[in-house]
Amino acid sequence: MFFLFGLTTREHLQSTRSASCRYCGMFAQQQVIQRRTKISVFFIPLLTVKKTCMQVCTNCGATSRISGLEERALAH
Ligand SMILES: [Zn+2]
Repeated sequence: MFFLFGLTTREHLQSTRSASCRYCGMFAQQQVIQRRTKISVFFIPLLTVKKTCMQVCTNCGATSRISGLEERALAH
């Protein structure tokens, strides 16, 4: 008997908002992306082991990590 373990990372677009970018300074669409890393057994994702949120500027492509608290504040 053997088990096949693996890690899968998925990215989900949570929301898009207009804000000024802290890198390029332009007022552009900012995408809030949630990245989830899951442990999978036989290619079936079971447990979420890591959850990170990122904000991506659509103008310059700069990516910045945001905390879960910030993400919740942006969602409303
Ligand atoms: Zn930018």
